[in-house]
Amino acid sequence: MKKYNFNAGPSMLPREVIENTAKQILDFNGSGLSLMEISHRAKDFQPVVDEAVALIKELLQIPEGYAVIFLGGGASLQFCQVPCNFLIKKAAYLNTGTWAKKAMKEAKHFGEVVEVASSADANYTFIPKGWTCPTDVDYLHITTNNTIFGTEIRKDLDVPVPMIADMSSDIFSRPVDVSKYDCIYGGAQKNLAMAGVTLIILKEDKLGKAPREIPTMLDYRTHVEKGSMFNTPPVVPIYSALETLRWLKKNGGVEEMDKRAHQRADMLYAEIDRNKLFRGTVKEEDRSLMNICFVMNDEYKDLEKPFLEFATARGMVGIKGHRSVGGFRASCYNAQTLEGVGALVKAMQDFEKEH
Ligand SMILES: *Cc1c(COP(=O)(O)O)cnc(C)c1O
Repeated sequence: MKKYNFNAGPSMLPREVIENTAKQILDFNGSGLSLMEISHRAKDFQPVVDEAVALIKELLQIPEGYAVIFLGGGASLQFCQVPCNFLIKKAAYLNTGTWAKKAMKEAKHFGEVVEVASSADANYTFIPKGWTCPTDVDYLHITTNNTIFGTEIRKDLDVPVPMIADMSSDIFSRPVDVSKYDCIYGGAQKNLAMAGVTLIILKEDKLGKAPREIPTMLDYRTHVEKGSMFNTPPVVPIYSALETLRWLKKNGGVEEMDKRAHQRADMLYAEIDRNKLFRGTVKEEDRSLMNICFVMNDEYKDLEKPFLEFATARGMVGIKGHRSVGGFRASCYNAQTLEGVGALVKAMQDFEKEH
């Protein structure tokens, strides 16, 4: 049976990305060696990193003065590496979910943290509005897409200070005005690559200002200076990112991804709103295009498990909601297809007819 992958992360990647990466794992560029067994300093690996960086700069139209690096440690390491490098005295954080809260917790190790707003009391069902950002902070940290709760900030905010953003789960799904950010980071395993690599975009002239001794490995300058080759980078994940970046370019870049994201999400949210069995979990204007969360309406609560089984029997994978929301979550990253979303919608309609 055909499977439709709605996993939240690691998640669906374009089939050709997986196939091309698999080929290189068996025989890297006709060398007779696997991508897994060559040196990261091999002369044919450097071009992989160079091409990936060039494509990232091209796809996101990154202005001059920014560096792009690949590191290990996931987005979670960035929760502490960001303040370690950028927090001079005081930083502002917008608390929109589990990941935002974790980022804020780590920042407190390095200085004063101002929570500009929070939707924690409402189980993060909306993006707080109407707050003001202090002007005396080093940066405002935001999480552009809240993977767990299904809310998203899909437009670059206007604030009087530079922003730093965790874009783990929506990077490359829309155009971004990079000039508004001192740093953008993301674990690759949602929208870009297999797990194991983190993408980091840094405004170079903001580095080296923090008033602390930074251990070598945590200092962004170490990795910028060495082009992500200070120590052994995650070679295979970086290669898979390159394949996704090539796919992105071939498929029309971030404008096209934005269009497709709207098409998929419109289709699924329309069914959630129409179907008597289901309802969405977050405020409509803040609905994520990437992670679409929904639950059974109260009078149909006991149909939750039966629907999960019904959908699973039709090939849906990974639609069980995160435990902090319950219900269902359909993750629709760049690689998700209209066919996949259509199959889920059809399952919802057919299940409704039975009840
Ligand atoms: C998944 C996720 C993380 C955690 O990423 P790791 O790479 O597992 O550390 C952080 N932020 C967001 C928004 C995420 O979706």
